[in-house]
Amino acid sequence: MNKPTDRREFLRHAAAAAATGSALLWAGGASAQVVMVSEKDATAAALGYIADTQKVDARKFPQHNPRQRCAGCHLYSGRAGDGAGACGIFPGKSVAAQGWCSAYVPKA
Ligand code: SF4
Repeated sequence: MNKPTDRREFLRHAAAAAATGSALLWAGGASAQVVMVSEKDATAAALGYIADTQKVDARKFPQHNPRQRCAGCHLYSGRAGDGAGACGIFPGKSVAAQGWCSAYVPKA
């Protein structure tokens, strides 16, 4: 059973995450906050970042291939199987493994 202070801390983090639209992970009493890149972020919008590669506007990005996704991008450093991971373009934030942007570079 969690200590009352653990529950209060969790609720405080959850409220902060809800307010910022970020995801919150809670495991075994230790918390790790993952801040996801918003599609509305200025850099993300400029690069056409979208969290679901299947929803890329083909007319706007004719170079896009639906098989391309962040998990297969050279700039992605998330672990295989994770739903999100870091991208060199967005320091301190994570992108969706199934995401895509126009800076996509296939892994070698
Ligand atoms: S640079 Fe690569 S990993 Fe980063 S958002 Fe674009 S496609 Fe995804």
